Amino acid sequence: MRRLGNFPAGALIVAYGVILLFGSCTVSHPTYVTSPPKPPPPPLPVPVPRPTRAAELRGVWVSDTTKLDWDSATANLQRAGFNTIFANLASGGAALYPNSHSLPSIVGGSPDLVAHGIDLAHRRGLAVHAKQIVTFMFKAPPEFQRELIASDRVMRGPDGHPVMQAGFAWLCPSQEANRALIASSVTEMVKRYPVDGIQFDYIRFCEQPSCFCANCRREFERTIGTHVKRWPEAVLQGAYVTQFNEWRQHVINTWIEDLSARARQARPNLAVSAAVFSDLNRAREEKAQDWKLWLDRGYVDYVCTMTYTPDLRDFESKVQKEQTSAPRSKVVVGIGSWKFDRLSQLSAQITMTRQLGAPGFVLFSYDDSASRNFLPNLGASGPRF
Ligand SMILES: [Zn+2]
Repeated sequence: MRRLGNFPAGALIVAYGVILLFGSCTVSHPTYVTSPPKPPPPPLPVPVPRPTRAAELRGVWVSDTTKLDWDSATANLQRAGFNTIFANLASGGAALYPNSHSLPSIVGGSPDLVAHGIDLAHRRGLAVHAKQIVTFMFKAPPEFQRELIASDRVMRGPDGHPVMQAGFAWLCPSQEANRALIASSVTEMVKRYPVDGIQFDYIRFCEQPSCFCANCRREFERTIGTHVKRWPEAVLQGAYVTQFNEWRQHVINTWIEDLSARARQARPNLAVSAAVFSDLNRAREEKAQDWKLWLDRGYVDYVCTMTYTPDLRDFESKVQKEQTSAPRSKVVVGIGSWKFDRLSQLSAQITMTRQLGAPGFVLFSYDDSASRNFLPNLGASGPRF
């Protein structure tokens, strides 16, 4: 895993301690001098190795980065003991930073508040990961969304209408123009900003049955080598259900493979991750999101699961199931902090991630926490509430 946490100092401290110990052994040879012995040097302080918890990823997701007050947010998060921000910088229909050449920018450019904010975060010890919402056209300007619907580039349901959520459409994953659009956005972001990582979110089909656009039909038929007469019934309930879902997974798998490679090429040593649904089987079947395969093949360095439940036992059960699906060191647990009324509930879930050996946790979301003044104080060695 690459740079999960923000404090890789543990190994250095251990190495320093070894050097000190080894050095103290080398002065024990007998000497035969007559001059008065020198007073012994004062003992060097022996650093106490901190627990490996120092590498824990303690993160928050920021949904609407256009409304983020970077100064107060980074100060609050530093004070509370967090070390990572996953900031949404682009969606399938909008750039949340100025002067994009890939997507319509919905914020002004002078000064560039994102650049300033990332600099502030770094100076306060916080890693910043750019989040790319891949398919969902969150905050897309209406004219841009209309243009893409008119040119048949959005996901369509079985009735042929665009799939919509909260007024926003979704990019169809099988279309080369859409894949090129997001590739361009990802490359632009990671080249322009000194981010520590890139995270892909909404890299999947919609949970509503999708996509049945003309391109998906054509590509699916080309893959299986035959014309599907009863479309879309044959892929919804008929003879081609399994093949259609395998094809959908292939579309998403090849997309994230490509995006990840481009991001790593544009900024070497970047941490690459994905926000994913907790239940692997449902993620595969309903959204074509095979995050185990992405980990197995190294397309992503780790995943952040959306393990959103207010019930502690249910949370424990879900995390344990995630950890049977993939190496636990690669499964950072996303916590639905917006579902809690009391900080003690959040404390219990953070403690649970530690008991279960998770490499870290991410709260969804900072937007919600800031509006409710609902942020735990993690302290230096563990949560304190
Ligand atoms: Zn389609």
